Amino acid sequence: MTLAMIKLLKPIAHCYGVINAINLAKKVANEYKDKNIYVFGLLVHNEEVTKELDGYGIKTIDLTNKNPLEVLKKFTSRDIVIFTAHGHPDVYEDILSIKGVTYFDATCPKVKECFNAIRGSKETIYIGKRNHPEANAALTQNDNVLFYDINEKFDYSQVKTDNPLIINQTTLSFLELEDIHKEIKENIKNPNIIDEICDATLLRQKAINELGDDIDTIIIVGSKKSSNTMKLYEVAKKKHLNKAIYLLENIEDCKKLDIKYKNAVIASGTSTPLNTINQIKEYLENK
Ligand code: SF4
Repeated sequence: MTLAMIKLLKPIAHCYGVINAINLAKKVANEYKDKNIYVFGLLVHNEEVTKELDGYGIKTIDLTNKNPLEVLKKFTSRDIVIFTAHGHPDVYEDILSIKGVTYFDATCPKVKECFNAIRGSKETIYIGKRNHPEANAALTQNDNVLFYDINEKFDYSQVKTDNPLIINQTTLSFLELEDIHKEIKENIKNPNIIDEICDATLLRQKAINELGDDIDTIIIVGSKKSSNTMKLYEVAKKKHLNKAIYLLENIEDCKKLDIKYKNAVIASGTSTPLNTINQIKEYLENK
């Protein structure tokens, strides 16, 4: 009899950008015990992480359907604000500085690298997902940024130069980006293409992409709000039509499903805690 096998597909769990952001938030909570500490939006896109921060007395401000500028104006000098790993417009810091509010920046270095390139460019086409906080922040880095929404047709008539910078959100799918770059090359004479998908995202997608016929089940663990988790799921769906593919946020999701497998892998988004992944693995191995 062949025993069922389940293994973790590496890299897995938090990336360095997420680890840095969580460590910064915990350090701030430790040092400013007498202040109200707020994360401005989701520090990273994972509900388990938000709960963990809550346990440290760090409140997360949900910005859904809110005007961020109006929310910022309400902070006082008794508050500490932490900006998220996805980046933010400079004007947010200006507003807090004027009000004498202390703030900390958890923006991932890879995101900052992308923003710096945009700042130094005469014209940029930024490829991203509409309303994602990283994309929103990227569009404010320079006055000459055109937005290429991955879910819409791009209007090339707005492009003014022959060699704009072509840059992207760090957590896109490499498969969709390859197609978009091809289309851009057909429509723009001499585009200056910089691929900014971060390694933490890319290596996971490639690992999924390269899975062989011996694997019958792929389990992706992460939040539906997490761009890189959803892109892992997309790559799995596109490349592995004959495998069972599941997207789980947590152990409760797993218990609701009757997952059967012979040879499974668990992969995760970059904001998924290792604890959540291990809970799911143990449950599936022992049920
Ligand atoms: S997924 Fe990439 S860009 Fe986002 S925090 Fe992690 S390393 Fe940084």
